[in-house]
Amino acid sequence: METTLISGGAGFIGSHLCDHFLNKGHTVICLDSLVTGNQKYIISKKNNKSFILIENDLTYMRLADFPQLHIDNILHFASPASPQDYMKYPFITLRAGSIGTEILLELAQKHSARFLLASTSEIYGDPTIHPQKEKYWGNVNPVGPRSIYDEAKRFAESYTMAYKRYLDLDIKIVRIFNTYGPRMRLNDGRALPNFMAQALKGKPITIYGDGTQTRSLCYITDLIDGIEGVIYTSYSDPINLGSPEEITILELAQRIKKISNSKSEIIFKPLPIDDPTKRCPEISIARKVLGWEPKVTLDEGLILSFSYFKQALSGEYS
Ligand code: UDP
Repeated sequence: METTLISGGAGFIGSHLCDHFLNKGHTVICLDSLVTGNQKYIISKKNNKSFILIENDLTYMRLADFPQLHIDNILHFASPASPQDYMKYPFITLRAGSIGTEILLELAQKHSARFLLASTSEIYGDPTIHPQKEKYWGNVNPVGPRSIYDEAKRFAESYTMAYKRYLDLDIKIVRIFNTYGPRMRLNDGRALPNFMAQALKGKPITIYGDGTQTRSLCYITDLIDGIEGVIYTSYSDPINLGSPEEITILELAQRIKKISNSKSEIIFKPLPIDDPTKRCPEISIARKVLGWEPKVTLDEGLILSFSYFKQALSGEYS
């Protein structure tokens, strides 16, 4: 059976990956500093003999600090990822994308492991090409407030590709577009958790800007299936994973309001600097290479998420 190391294993996506690979019979090494991860998702697995927890900041670790067992797969998901979080933790974010990537690439080389980098649609910045294809190089402000995350991930992609080109490491890069579902932090500042919490509490739903900006939201289970597909493919160029179902932020707010039967009013606040005006993945590579596309529609996913947020707000998941 395989051993899979997941950095950021207590985070939203990382914790779903830990469960997924434990269910597949893998030994899972979960590495997380808990700066934005949630201890709850670790505690439930602590008695599982196949689950090894390293509660540490990856970027201060040496290779000798990792468990002395053979590792087959390394999935690098450690990083604050919501705009609110990465602006709150700028240096942690920059270090996770740079030093963190370096350390895990070295570890992967030592073990001849597969290395998968969790990259992001943010590397396209505020795109001038729509929808975004992997071949598009992006439109990123290298010194803007979002550059903390965008440029760290762009550097991580470059470092990862260098390991492929010069050291023949088995690498994969997934560019993850907006993803949602159970285990998102209620207070991570993203649109979906904010709208869910505001709708449930009957508080005003806060739209930044006029709400015409678009995003495409992928349900978590679809993303996990896509990531698993990528790990085992021989394709090593970046692959977009996300939903091609594009929606304006205003429409998202209205749908959440409807699903939750909320009386919250919708209010408008200033748009953050460099906020992308549109975002939607072109996923023909994922379709062709992995035979993957999202199965859960936005309406289905929102209903599933709504029950989670309702329970989370009532304290059940806090
Ligand atoms: N947004 C919003 N209200 C909120 C939070 C976010 O209108 O309470 C907007 C945000 O400005 C952006 C979009 O929703 O245009 C998606 O933001 P999110 O933080 O979810 O993630 P992003 O896609 O920007 O990384």
